Amino acid sequence: FFVVFEGGDGVGKSTQIDLLAGHLRAPAGGGFEVVTTREPGGTQLGQELRQAVMHGDHVAPRAEALLYAADRAHHIATKVRPALERGAVVVQDRYVDSSIVYQGGARGLGDEVERISRWATEDLLPDLTVVLDMEPAAGRMERELDRVERETGEHAALIREAFLGLAAREPSRYAVIDAARSIEDVAGDVTRAVADAMAR
Ligand code: C5P
Repeated sequence: FFVVFEGGDGVGKSTQIDLLAGHLRAPAGGGFEVVTTREPGGTQLGQELRQAVMHGDHVAPRAEALLYAADRAHHIATKVRPALERGAVVVQDRYVDSSIVYQGGARGLGDEVERISRWATEDLLPDLTVVLDMEPAAGRMERELDRVERETGEHAALIREAFLGLAAREPSRYAVIDAARSIEDVAGDVTRAVADAMAR
């Protein structure tokens, strides 16, 4: 079972991923083998690509899109697919939707980014995508603008709308969860959404 967390910066993805993984590993949660991972940077090569794309100088938009796709292709082939094949649950921080929203939306590359990603992953789709949804200001306060925002002026509110738009395209494979609540309340909704999807 492949579950992906998406959403803007500061909505609590890492916290919720840790809680979900702990729950699924516990006997009461099913006692699953759980692999938690992230894009970009879920492999050694991915760490290097993450450094290049996020901390380097300006990267041309198409080069940037291909670096994210290279990270993804390697990550899916060497880490995610093998884990899924041996029956593990993979809980992943960001996937194709982040590229559609950030490289596609902010960089004006549109549908091409989705096609590149689909090719890179040989069409591996998540069984469930959890969108942690929050009014941008709440998560934004103590954080600086990231490089994409500085370079494109892309506004966190547009990022949020873009994730909601992707979820609305295919509601049965998404759970949009209000993340502007207590960690425990959000975690409860996440657990329920994942259990429902696993039971389908
Ligand atoms: O991995 P992390 O959540 O720390 O990534 C933070 C930032 O990296 C995002 O806010 C976005 O600017 C950028 N990013 C991106 N495309 C992706 C994944 C992340 O532009 N596919």
